[in-house]
Amino acid sequence: MTQKCAIVTGAARGIGLATAKLFLEEGLRVAIVDWDTDELNLHKDLPDTLLLDLDISKPDDVTAIFERTLAWSGRVDALVNNAGIAEFGPVNNTDFAMWRRVMQTNLDGTFLCTQAAIPSLTETKGSVVNIASISGLRASTLRVAYGTSKAAVIQLTKQHAAELGEHGIRVNCVCPGPVRTKLAMAVHTQEIIDAYHDAIPLNRYGSEREIAEVIAFLCSDKASYVTGQIIAADGGFESTGVGLP
Ligand code: NAD
Repeated sequence: MTQKCAIVTGAARGIGLATAKLFLEEGLRVAIVDWDTDELNLHKDLPDTLLLDLDISKPDDVTAIFERTLAWSGRVDALVNNAGIAEFGPVNNTDFAMWRRVMQTNLDGTFLCTQAAIPSLTETKGSVVNIASISGLRASTLRVAYGTSKAAVIQLTKQHAAELGEHGIRVNCVCPGPVRTKLAMAVHTQEIIDAYHDAIPLNRYGSEREIAEVIAFLCSDKASYVTGQIIAADGGFESTGVGLP
């Protein structure tokens, strides 16, 4: 099979779905992984896609992602570790169960998928893009679990890039600013929305497509000498240091 193949986790909606659609436009086949069966089934008529109803935080499910993708496409050229959950709350209201839920998907899932991808990406000299967040670059209130998980994803990116370069595998990270997805709008109060508009030099939220374009660039041969990089796609938020509530 010569057609390139990408695996995008958490791609039933939001930034992951926009990324999957952009890869399809570029001629790749795409394995769409998501644990939300209803959202996943909305895409069963998309050509050149494999829908995988699996949980990236479970080792057996991650093994299945790669076995089933390889049986379908014969190769993996790109892995986008996009699946994520956000739960916000002050430190005193962040119980251990919430902390673990956030870490299991955002951090454990990213670790497990990348480790499972190493044999196939070694064959194709492929690449990994992790999706962290501006909340992993800078601390603000309510994000003790989410922000810490994303800061860990940033460090994981550097660790993996340092070790996997000798296999020809590039590993980079995109830190999106706010995008009006289901995840964000569940935790962004009006106060947070207003603060972002003021703090972001471009004075607006980003779109799913604007994030997908950066991910696709990092996966492409145009980025063939780029690895271990953390790129904020955030309308300039990180560059200013203006705070949030
Ligand atoms: P979203 O909720 O629209 O999409 C996330 C998808 O991941 C969902 O379809 C969900 O079902 C899936 N998912 C979650 N946990 C999973 C698991 N364990 N196994 C399989 N699938 C799982 O959210 P989004 O905003 O598109 O988020 C995509 C990524 O971007 C996340 O990692 C998020 O943290 C990050 N991000 C988003 C924003 C934003 O403002 N939207 C900002 C910064 C970073």
